[in-house]
Amino acid sequence: MHIIPVPAFRDNYIWLVHDGRRALVVDPGDAAPVREALARLGLELGAILVTHHHADHVGGLAALLAHGRVPVFGPAGEAIDGVSHPVFEGDEIRIAAPGIGFRVLDLPGHTAGHVAYVAMDIEPGLVFCGDTLFSAGCGRLFEGSPEQLAGSLGKLAALPPDTRVYCTHEYTLSNLAFARAAEPDNVERDEYARHCEDLRARSLPTLPSTIGRERAINPFLRCDHPSVAATVATHVGRPLQDATDCLAALRAWKDGF
Ligand code: ZN
Ligand code: FE
Repeated sequence: MHIIPVPAFRDNYIWLVHDGRRALVVDPGDAAPVREALARLGLELGAILVTHHHADHVGGLAALLAHGRVPVFGPAGEAIDGVSHPVFEGDEIRIAAPGIGFRVLDLPGHTAGHVAYVAMDIEPGLVFCGDTLFSAGCGRLFEGSPEQLAGSLGKLAALPPDTRVYCTHEYTLSNLAFARAAEPDNVERDEYARHCEDLRARSLPTLPSTIGRERAINPFLRCDHPSVAATVATHVGRPLQDATDCLAALRAWKDGF
């Protein structure tokens, strides 16, 4: 099983999973680069996964389906043209070719119906988490509450530490700049930042990350750490009630960073 990023727009990755013959694509916001990658690798499209309704994740569906219908899995809680198999929390889906199965997580917050796909029977594990968790950051709260986002990030953080995190945007370096402000003293984060700067200097993706790494460096998964809570409290100029209050303040701070 191979997993490759298909760059799209300014900073999106459309993940393409293939076995040398058939491919699964995740969040095809644009059809052209997907078609180009399929042709270049001699692959046939087998299925599509969608995490949420934003155009940069679904914009390529119609054009990809115009050449022949394939199963399209997407969030049951969002109206998305082209989704043939609506999914929600706890669903288990099987893609025949390439042979891979996923368990669905509901991750409300960035959008109301956002879902993630956690691979089953693969070691180490992997998750396609859309715009909910980014490396060193998280998606903006467009439709959900801080409580929902806290629950969604908590579900991802509870996955095994070696789970590979395939998010949809190359935001890592700018997220790391904010992470430095939110948690000044984090040696592992500083080492990771140097590693990512080196990758980006060579135009290589910083993704996938892992759940274990994100728990160590991502301030949005570290609201229960005293150093993050203290920095956020100082920034907002008031005591924080709990980790969710910290997450809400952190997200608002990042929105204007
Ligand atoms: Zn989005
Ligand atoms: Fe996006």
